[in-house]
Amino acid sequence: MLKDLDWFTREARDLPWRRTLDPYAIWVSEIMLQQTQVKTVIPYWERWMRELPDIAALASASPEKIHKLWEGLGYYTRVRNLQKAAQQLVRENGGAFPQTFDAVLALTGIGRYTAGAITSIAFNQPSPILDGNVIRVLTRLHGIEENPRDKETNAKLWQLAEELVRAAARHESRITLHSTLLLSGPCSALNQSLMELGALLCTPKQPNCEVCPWRKPCAARATNRVEALPNLGKRAAATDRRFIAFLVQHRGQWLVEQRPAGVVNAHLWEFPNVEIDSQTTDLLPTAKKLLGGKPAQLEPLVTIKHSITRYRISLEAMLASRKKRRRRRKVPVG
Ligand code: SF4
Repeated sequence: MLKDLDWFTREARDLPWRRTLDPYAIWVSEIMLQQTQVKTVIPYWERWMRELPDIAALASASPEKIHKLWEGLGYYTRVRNLQKAAQQLVRENGGAFPQTFDAVLALTGIGRYTAGAITSIAFNQPSPILDGNVIRVLTRLHGIEENPRDKETNAKLWQLAEELVRAAARHESRITLHSTLLLSGPCSALNQSLMELGALLCTPKQPNCEVCPWRKPCAARATNRVEALPNLGKRAAATDRRFIAFLVQHRGQWLVEQRPAGVVNAHLWEFPNVEIDSQTTDLLPTAKKLLGGKPAQLEPLVTIKHSITRYRISLEAMLASRKKRRRRRKVPVG
C-alpha cells in the first residue's frame, strides 16, 4: 500500500478539483465524472464553479441555468438531483455540506460510491469506494475470477476496498502531493490512488504493469490473466435504433420543442424527431404527422451516429422546407 501512495504522490494528475478541499466542489466533480471522461468534465466543472460557486447559488439557480451549464454532459437526472440535494441542504442544514458518510448518502442522487469519494477526499474519512476503475484494479490484484456484478463478489470487493482505506487511515507520516494539489489525508490519497491507477496504468486493454506499484503482489500478472479480468460475463447484444429529426426554419427561427417530464432527457429542447424502423424510405408521411402539415421538400442534411449503453443510434437530420404561399398576381385593370 505504501508504494501505491508513493506512486500517487508523484503521478497524480493536476485536475482542477484536486486544488480544493471544498466538499461542494468535490461533490460537483464526482457527479459530473459519473459516466463521463475527465477531459470532457474539466471545462464543464470550471464553468459551473464560476457560475454557481456554492450550495446556495446552486439551490437558487433557475432550471434553465443548470440545464444550460450541464448541456452536452448527458444523463440530465444528475443535474436535477444535484439541485434537489442543494435545496435540501439549504432547507435542513443551513446550506452547509454534511460531514458524516450517512448524512451525505442520504442526499438525493448520492450513492455509496459517491458518498465514499466525497467523504474520503474532502474529510479524510475511511470510507471505501468501488467504481469500474477500482473493480479492475482489485480483481486483478487479487486474481478474482468471479463476475464482480454478482452480489457476493461485489460485497467481497467492497470489503477489500474498505480494508485498504482503513489501513491507510492508520498511516502516520504526512502525505503531500506535488505542485498546488491539496490532500485531506491518507484515506483520500488511497482512494484517489486506486482510481488513478485504474485510469492511468491498470487500463482495460494493454495495462502498463511494468511501472505499476502493485506489479509484485499482482495475482493476475503472475498468472498471465491480466486482460481476462475482471470477468464481466457476456455483453448484452447491441441494438440498432434509427431516429429522424426534422429541421424547420421560419423567418430566421428554428422550430424546437421541449421534451416532457418523466422521459429520458426530460425538459431539454430538441428538433422534432421520431424513432422509426430501418425499412421506411418515404419520410413525408412521418413528417406530416409530426409537424402537422406536409413539408414541400425533405432534404437529407447529416446523419449522426452515437452509442449509448447497448444502443447504436443513428439520427438522420432532414431539412424540411415549408410550402411557399403563392403570391397573388396583380391583374392590370383597364
Ligand atoms: S500489475 Fe498490471 S494488472 Fe496488476 S494492478 Fe498493476 S497494472 Fe493492474
